[in-house]
Amino acid sequence: MTDNILLSVRSLTRRFTSSGPAVVDDLSFDLDAGEILALIGPSGCGKTTTLRMIAGFETPDAGRVLLSGRDLTSMPAEQRGIGMVFQDYALFPHMTVGENIRFGARRKGREMVARYLGMVGLDGFDQRYPDQLSGGQQQRVALARSFAAEPRLILLDEPFSNLDAALRSAARREIRRLLKSAGIAIVFVTHDQEEALSFADRIAVMRDGRILQNGAAHEVYDRPADAFVATFLGRTNLLEGTAEGGFVRTSLGLLPLTRPASGRVSISLRPERLGIRAVEADEQPNGRIVAVEFKGHDMTYWVDCNGVEVQVDAMQSIRLAEGTPVCVAVDGEAVPLGDSKQ
Ligand code: ATP
Repeated sequence: MTDNILLSVRSLTRRFTSSGPAVVDDLSFDLDAGEILALIGPSGCGKTTTLRMIAGFETPDAGRVLLSGRDLTSMPAEQRGIGMVFQDYALFPHMTVGENIRFGARRKGREMVARYLGMVGLDGFDQRYPDQLSGGQQQRVALARSFAAEPRLILLDEPFSNLDAALRSAARREIRRLLKSAGIAIVFVTHDQEEALSFADRIAVMRDGRILQNGAAHEVYDRPADAFVATFLGRTNLLEGTAEGGFVRTSLGLLPLTRPASGRVSISLRPERLGIRAVEADEQPNGRIVAVEFKGHDMTYWVDCNGVEVQVDAMQSIRLAEGTPVCVAVDGEAVPLGDSKQ
């Protein structure tokens, strides 16, 4: 974080019933100008409620929302100057796509409309009406309309949920480029880990109304705070070991740790951090392949290492068969995990 903070969320709390649990529980985070933050977590963890409180659609029971240091907590949604695209899109039905985008746009004109439509893959759609569009197309128009207004902050709830896989990845790339050049900050909600990792600068992983970890996308992926974060953001091997200083003894041998620890620890090792090869003559294997998964460009091997099963990602060219005795090696450091509340 820098002194360039745009949005500050301070101890935000929301309960829907007086005796029930807080669905958003003392939540705090900061967002820099032009930064993209993903709120990610399982269904019902409070992501949308958090976004709605920032937008002004939901009143917090406690806590504050500040934009550039100004307290917005009791300000109506329409006065906050925050753009938003929620799941129901809400395009103006009596206006064409072009008129929808021009409405509230910072710069007017045909070129501007064409530029934003091109970016969301809808060239030539400006004369259509919303009811002549598919759900995914309406979603893209809603995104284009929010970007055209060029606010400093836009809130997006599952922004790419209605787009098919190929379009989603292209749209993410184009939109990310636009947001970075325009300096627009984003808070978006998703439960798709690939979307969070590829579109966001920072990721806040939520569970039960709280943030478990908030950090740069690569940091949260490479150094998850606990087992929940580790498994939520991708496949991983969770192993037990005994740590001393900067090393841990596991069924894969003695491994370096990302930070010192002591005593019994759980560790996370991503499958792509493990290497696998067939044993050479006279060499002692440390595992045996129990299952092979062919995935096109790469393979996942399931290997029994001294009674513990680990998954190892490898290039397709390696081609080892089930039952092969192998050497599994670790490329990188093991991540000691903190206590995960179950
Ligand atoms: P999803 O990924 O499924 O959209 P989410 O993380 O966005 O989930 P929220 O929509 O914020 O979760 O909901 C958090 C919890 O609050 C849920 O248990 C939900 O049922 C409850 N909730 C949300 N809105 C209301 C409401 N208006 N009245 C009562 N309970 C609500």
